[in-house]
This record gives sequence, C-alpha cells and structure tokens, in this order.
Amino acid sequence: MPDKGRILVRVIPIFIALLIVMYQRSTATKIVNEAGRTVRLGLSTQQELSLGDQAYQQVLSQSRTVTSGPGYEMVKNCAARLTTVTGDAGKNFQWAVSVVESGEVNAFCLTGGKIVVYTGIIPVAQSEAGLAVVMGHEIAHATNHHGAERVLQEKTANTLLTGANFSLSGADPQQHRQIMGLIGAGARLGYILPFSREHESEADSVGLKYMARAGYDPREAVKFWERMSAQGGGKAPPQFLSTHPANETRIARLKQELPTAIKIYESAGGR
Ligand SMILES: [Zn+2]
Repeated sequence: MPDKGRILVRVIPIFIALLIVMYQRSTATKIVNEAGRTVRLGLSTQQELSLGDQAYQQVLSQSRTVTSGPGYEMVKNCAARLTTVTGDAGKNFQWAVSVVESGEVNAFCLTGGKIVVYTGIIPVAQSEAGLAVVMGHEIAHATNHHGAERVLQEKTANTLLTGANFSLSGADPQQHRQIMGLIGAGARLGYILPFSREHESEADSVGLKYMARAGYDPREAVKFWERMSAQGGGKAPPQFLSTHPANETRIARLKQELPTAIKIYESAGGR
C-alpha cells in the first residue's frame, strides 16, 4: 500500500472515535449543577436512582449495620436535617441512610441519595456538627451529579483510547504498548484527575452551604479537616482521604468561603 493510503487507514479509527465522542457529548443531558457549573451527564435520573440503589443494597448485604445507639441517632438526625436543605437539586432523590459497623474512617452518598456512614468516622467527627461536615460533603457530590458526570468522562476516555489502539495496530508491539501507556497516563493526569479535583472543591463548597442552611456552625468544617489531617499522621492516609485533595489546600479554601457560610448559618438561626 502506498504511504498516503497507510496513513489514512491509521487515522480513520481515531477519527471515528472523535465522531463517537462528539455524538456521546451532544446527546448527553446538560444541566447547571448546584455549584453553578454546566455539566454533561452520562446517566439519566432513573439510572442514577437504580444504580445507586443497587450499590447500596450490595454494600448493606456485605456489612453489619448499626440500628440503634447514640452514633446511629446522630447520623440519622444529621441526614434528616441536611437532606431537607438540598432544595431542587435533591427533589428527585430517594434518600436513605445506613450506619455500617467498621473501623474504616469513611462515608459516602451514592447517586440518587443513598448515604452510608462507617462507625470509624464518628470519633473523628466528634459531634453532630462534625458529622455534618463529612455528610454535607458527600451529599453534595450526589446532588452535583458527580457520579453521572464521571460516567460520561470515562466513556469519552475509553472511546478515544480504543480509537488510538486501533490506529496504532500496525505499529511495532513494544512501541504500541509504550504509546498507549503514555496516552493512558496523559488522559488520567490531564483529563480525569483535574475533574476529580474540581468535584472535590465543589463538594466542599456546596457541603459547607448545606451544613450552614441546616443550622450547623460552618466553622466546624475547618476543625474537622484539621482532625482528618492529623489522622494521616505522616503514614498512609485513611481511604477517605486518598481520593481527596491535600488538606492544607482544602482548609485554606474553606476559610475563604467561611464568611458567606456564616451569613447563611446566622440567617438560619444559628449563632
Ligand atoms: Zn469527596
């Protein structure tokens, strides 16, 4: 085959991948999230609810849950107060909360509103306001549809990687592996990671508003993250932290947002 033809054959798969990505993005639902950013989602509301529910049932079937006691009451009360202040963003959610017996310092809120809190995080939270920091953050991930946005991002990355893989199929196998490795690392560092950082800062800032609206003192957020930071103690960070940004950055940003949050807190009746 002449060189020109060979180059064309190589370019076709990546070109088709680009067309597929454009199609995926143009047909995806577009919304303005709680943080005011326009996002494209890879899941419908119904899919968010059913996938979240499936994951929730799976977690519960594999764990021992706590259904009474002061820790449980505190989590239940905090969830009730926070979920009522999510407004329109949470109106289609089917909220539920469970406390799982585990030493892990962890909590999460699945798409559609199913919340799981591990008992290991309660001593770090120290109080209901401390708990509101972490639960507000996790609920904000869900009401901002971060999970559904990530589904579309991963679809985009996978489509492009598949296209590149086909385009390179004629190349020397070792070279092929090296180039694919580079593209994969580039996609992670340049595309997936910045998005997850953005998700973290949105969850912090929206979570801070939720806790203030629910009548919890937002100043507790700074104290909570300082305690979480101390938990790391130079060793490997707890699982909850490993996907989250450096504590200093987070604390500095929260301090900047505190004055606005304190105003919300005061107008909600707190002092
Ligand atoms: Zn987070």
